[in-house]
Amino acid sequence: MLPPVEPWKMKAACRGADVNLFFVLKGKHQRVDKRQAEQAKAFCRNCPVMGECFEEAMSTQDFQAVRAGLTPVELRKAHSRRVHRSVM
Ligand code: SF4
Repeated sequence: MLPPVEPWKMKAACRGADVNLFFVLKGKHQRVDKRQAEQAKAFCRNCPVMGECFEEAMSTQDFQAVRAGLTPVELRKAHSRRVHRSVM
């Protein structure tokens, strides 16, 4: 049985989109495909639940795909900044 979907996810701009578009890390070195990342980010730009999406990414530390308008690399940096701020 699939876990229940949080209500905010029903409002996601990416709902129904091809999830593969959001997985932008490519190749042996897992580099960001910038062109694909821009296409994925276009969904996020006007997404009404970007804040919820960002907080979920930070709390789960799930940095495999574009989320909240950020690439996996950008998400990791945002998380590091948050951790750094919380210890200062
Ligand atoms: S911010 Fe982007 S990845 Fe997150 S729910 Fe919205 S469209 Fe999807």
